[in-house]
Order: sequence, then structure tokens, then C-alpha cells
Amino acid sequence: MEITARRIGDAVRGATVESAAAPGMNVLKTYDPPLGELAGRTVTGVRRRGKHLIVDFDGLSLLLHLMSAGRLQLYDKRAGPRDRTSRILVRLADGRELRLREFGTKQRAWAKLLPTDEVEQDEAIATLGPEAWPDPPPAALLSGAARPLHSLLRDQHVLAGVGRSWADEILHAAELSPFKRGSDLTPAEADTLAETIPAVLGDALEHYERTVSLPIPDKLPMPLTVHRHEGEDCPRCGTALERVWFEDYVIAYCPACQTDGRVLKDRRLSRLLK
Ligand SMILES: [Zn+2]
Repeated sequence: MEITARRIGDAVRGATVESAAAPGMNVLKTYDPPLGELAGRTVTGVRRRGKHLIVDFDGLSLLLHLMSAGRLQLYDKRAGPRDRTSRILVRLADGRELRLREFGTKQRAWAKLLPTDEVEQDEAIATLGPEAWPDPPPAALLSGAARPLHSLLRDQHVLAGVGRSWADEILHAAELSPFKRGSDLTPAEADTLAETIPAVLGDALEHYERTVSLPIPDKLPMPLTVHRHEGEDCPRCGTALERVWFEDYVIAYCPACQTDGRVLKDRRLSRLLK
């Protein structure tokens, strides 16, 4: 999200909006002010909060959550009538078009048009925890909860901006089990984890700075070493990375570096057997 905000923000800052439309049913969760209010305004920037993108138009802001299948992209030309993926179109006076697109059949991405000074009070933003990057979160935030670290890191109310992929990478880098409870962390482990979170995300961002340019690819070249690498060698110790399945996702980890050699039970199966 951060690299998308930077790249698109740099490209559209200062552009004037000609018109805006929401062809996607139900994507826009607000009706006042109407999307038409964007016409004639200047794009002042694109920023990120947690996993949300915010496009600012002097005085109004589009708050976007792309969910898993949405993308914010900038095109040199306007969408044709056959375009079925665009949920929001912001046409710029210079001929370019900013599109919120969503792939697949589930329409889960959403947008809200809000006065800019109300964005921080919006429920989606006001309930976010502190940003996971660039500053380390307070260690007490992590050690204060009796929950498995993997679920804790992904909880946007605890910490904003970490998803499943990066939770795997962060816990591997910190050499901590995904199932260790926050409250079982030693003070030193909690400090290490707090420092590791922005370090891993900062490295990823540096990678994106080097590799991503407009147009933003549909699939970002994520510099992952653990997530989706199960069966391959741990980059630190060479042990084969393991995975544990949940209902709809997979956690990857190194048994040697993270779980004292223990291979974790498949949670999906054990739940089925209960
Ligand atoms: Zn290892």
C-alpha cells in the first residue's frame, strides 16, 4: 500500500478532476457528499493508513480499502465500455484516469468519500492501532496480550499495516513461534519483536522502491523468504520450512529457528476431527 500511495501520489499530485463515477455496485459506502463533488478539485496527494489508501482532493478525501483483490491504478487512457473490473473511476482533466479495480467475483473492496478533516474520525481509521512502520510499536503492546503472536500482529486494532505474509516474515526474522502468546514473551523478546516489525517492513519498502514503477503491477514482486516458501530451505539455517493450515490461510515457519524443532499440527484437520 505504501509504495502504491507513493508512486500514484507522485504522479497525480496537482492534477484536476474532470469527473468521478462509481460503476461498482455498493462499493461506495457514503452518499453525502456525492462523488460528483470531486469534479473541478485538485488531487493533493495519496497516502496510506494501515492497509487503507486515502486520495486527497483539496477538502475531500476518498478513503479506500482494497481488501485482497482490489487495486488502485493509474491509466493514461479512459476505461472502455467493456471494462468490468472498475469500481471507482476518477477521470482527470489531462486525460488520465485513476481506477479502483477489483478482480474476481467477490466485491469486497470499499470506498468512502469524506471531508478530509473527518477521515481520522471515521470508524475504519479511528479504531486502528499504531502504524507498524516506521517506528517500532511499544513492546508492551505486544507482551500485554494473551494471544498467539501471528494473530496479534495481524490485528489492525493492535497494530496497523501487517498482513499474513509479513506476519510470517516478521516472526521468522525475530525467531519467535507464530503460536507463542504475547504474554509469554520475555522483555527481551518483546523488544526484539518490536524492533523487527518496522525493520522487516522497511526492507520490503526499500525493495519496492528499487523494483516498482508505474504502472503498478497487479501482483507486487513481494520480497518474501518464508511466506509461501514452505518446503524450501530456511534462509537462516537451511532447515526445511514447514507450514500449518488454518481454515483459509497458511502460516509458514522454520521449526529450527522458531519452534524448538516442533512441527505444528494442522489446525484445519484437528478442528475437523473435534
Ligand atoms: Zn531456520
